[in-house]
Amino acid sequence: MALSRSICYIDMDGVLVDFVEGVCKAKNVENPYTTTTFRDYGIEKVLGKDMWEGLEQDFWANLSKSAIADDVVKTCVNFFGLDHCYIATSPTLNIGCASGKKAWIKQHYPEFYEKVIIIKDKYLLAKPTAVLIDDSDGKIADFRASGGYGYLIGRPWNTTKTSQPIDIEIDRLKKFFWSITV
Ligand SMILES: [Mg+2]
Repeated sequence: MALSRSICYIDMDGVLVDFVEGVCKAKNVENPYTTTTFRDYGIEKVLGKDMWEGLEQDFWANLSKSAIADDVVKTCVNFFGLDHCYIATSPTLNIGCASGKKAWIKQHYPEFYEKVIIIKDKYLLAKPTAVLIDDSDGKIADFRASGGYGYLIGRPWNTTKTSQPIDIEIDRLKKFFWSITV
């Protein structure tokens, strides 16, 4: 894959954004990934389907940036160039989700404000010159199956089962980029 022709898609929730911490705080519950043995993807399985109620624009706009976010973005932009980097994020059924996410990006990564793709089926973006960085095993598997490259970031809720220290994760990300580029 030649860097000059490639595209890098970066996920928000679970990669750039601390959605799990945010939703636990909003619902006043402890984070099950730190206080229990629950390790499945989808905190809805613990909090229940009604957890989405009330998660409107302010919730999405005010979520915390993840500890690794700046390093992920910097690494992707260094490798691919800003012109070739995009944010790809799933919407929820909340009407304020998309506008809240755009507000978050405007605050934290204004250079990406017009480079946001809100899409549930990220595999539609896959091609032999595209990379997806995501925390969902399913989304990474679908993206790979559709002809793209996928990088699963370490999180307690996916098959990596843990968040790695930032320097170790970024080192792994760089090695991955080098392994797929010519
Ligand atoms: Mg995600």
